[in-house]
Amino acid sequence: MYSYLKRNLSFLICLLLVFSFCACGSQTERAEATADPQAGESSTVYVDSMDTFMELRAFGSNRDAALKAAKEEIERLNDMLSIGLEKSEISMVNQQGSGTVSPETAEMIRGALDLYEETDGAFDLTVYPLMELWGFVSKDYHVPTNEELSETLKRIGADRVTLDDVSGAVTLDVGQAIDLGGIAKGYTSQKLMEIFKSYGVQSAIVSLGGNMQCLGTKPDGSAWRIGVKDPFNPEFGLSAIIQIVDKAVITSGGYERYFVDEASGVTYRHIIDPATGYPAESGLSSVSIVTDNGMLGDGLSTALYIMGLEKASNFWREHRDAFDAVLIDNDGNLYVTAGLEGTVSSDSEIRIIR
Ligand code: ADP
Ligand code: MG
Repeated sequence: MYSYLKRNLSFLICLLLVFSFCACGSQTERAEATADPQAGESSTVYVDSMDTFMELRAFGSNRDAALKAAKEEIERLNDMLSIGLEKSEISMVNQQGSGTVSPETAEMIRGALDLYEETDGAFDLTVYPLMELWGFVSKDYHVPTNEELSETLKRIGADRVTLDDVSGAVTLDVGQAIDLGGIAKGYTSQKLMEIFKSYGVQSAIVSLGGNMQCLGTKPDGSAWRIGVKDPFNPEFGLSAIIQIVDKAVITSGGYERYFVDEASGVTYRHIIDPATGYPAESGLSSVSIVTDNGMLGDGLSTALYIMGLEKASNFWREHRDAFDAVLIDNDGNLYVTAGLEGTVSSDSEIRIIR
């Protein structure tokens, strides 16, 4: 039913589609208002890390050195954070129930704990035991019994995780495990922008498993054009195109990882509602967050997907300075928050959330 290869192939095809939008199919673009004679020239690097395919593209004369450093940074962060690596900082904490983590990991755990508070528990870095129970970790999928669910739910709750921001000391409650998979790629894309800047790169775009983040404008001064996949035809279709400058567009879609239970025919998706222990069924099929903070965007895409349209709209009204969003419901209706008005194009009707 589910094929990792198929997912990654389709992802790659979609990436190519998105990048062809971004780059208008050309390797050399007009350089304006810049002294760099290579401002319009780009290089692209592919990285297979964090359980996904990544594509990094940078422009200008320092692009190759910057891309090399960016690739190394992804591998460094993966080694630090991966729950699949026995020696990662996160695995050490999970094995021992406590530990001292590096300032970067502490920053991410703090970010995740803040998101837990802000989203009323929708984003919860302790959902890992539920991911395991449903088989999303082993890919040996399983619909749990009520008893299994209620036993596992006892171990869920970021309110029982403590972090000392100064020392980096973390403690978990008995049986808990943490996973930063819901924010790691957003955090990483944010870091990549800093690396590009430190190398003097002014124009770059990365896609980390569908999480897009851009530095500056395209070399010709125009906005980047980011495709939002059609959740009902994610391999080839786009539901909308968002124009952005210096921002991240981070999407959570139920189509990304799922399995179909053969007995019941029900589809279960990889975003878990910590309130019920079940995969989220909120009426939304895709949520894209547009923000200049990649980590926030990543966490919020997961959280707003769980909240559903009404709660997500209200959440945006309370935090409209921090982000904007493009939401697609299960009927294919497209909703766009007011801050993006005029920057989103689509063949569908665009309904503005105010
Ligand atoms: P993807 O990582 O596939 O791009 P998301 O950004 O939406 O998708 O993150 C989903 C991942 O986040 C899951 O694979 C899981 O590791 C984790 N996750 C699932 N549900 C939650 C939740 N409620 N809170 C925090 N993390 C979650
Ligand atoms: Mg996310």
